[in-house]
Parts: sequence; C-alpha cells; structure tokens
Amino acid sequence: MASCLDNHTIHRMVTVASVEARMSSVVAYRCPNTDNEVVTAIQTDNVTLMRMQASKLAIWVWCPHCMAGHQISADAAQVQDSRRLASLTAD
Ligand SMILES: [Zn+2]
Repeated sequence: MASCLDNHTIHRMVTVASVEARMSSVVAYRCPNTDNEVVTAIQTDNVTLMRMQASKLAIWVWCPHCMAGHQISADAAQVQDSRRLASLTAD
C-alpha cells in the first residue's frame, strides 16, 4: 500500500536518488483545488519519478495556494528543471 509510506520516507528516497544523480530538477504538480502549478522542494530526476510512477506511489505535498497538504499520485507529478523556477515564481 502506497499510503503506508509517509512524506519523510518518500522525501528521503527522492533526495538520496537526487544526490547520487547530481540532478537539479524538482517535483512539480498542479493543485487540484486552484489549478495552479506548484513547485515543491522535492528534488528528483526523470528516472526516479518514473520508478515512483511504476510503483503507484503517492506523495504528500504542501500547497501554498490552499495552505494545506495534498496527496498526489506520482502520475500527477512532473519533473521541473530548477532553472525554470525564476519564471514560475514571477507569476
Ligand atoms: Zn492546493
């Protein structure tokens, strides 16, 4: 059951994978309530995200639009190049 994994577990997995791969990409998702794109602090890469999607993992993320947490499936998450963050935060 994916719900047995808490956010810390997944965050740690992703962080470790990121350090090993030396990537600078982060996980982004679309808020289900406001339809705004949210960029998380979770660092990952495409390979890690594909593994998470294959495992049907769910991720708990903090949403700055709702001031609450969302549980999103790995299918709904995307990898964003952190170099895009400047344009996203300028929204
Ligand atoms: Zn939200």
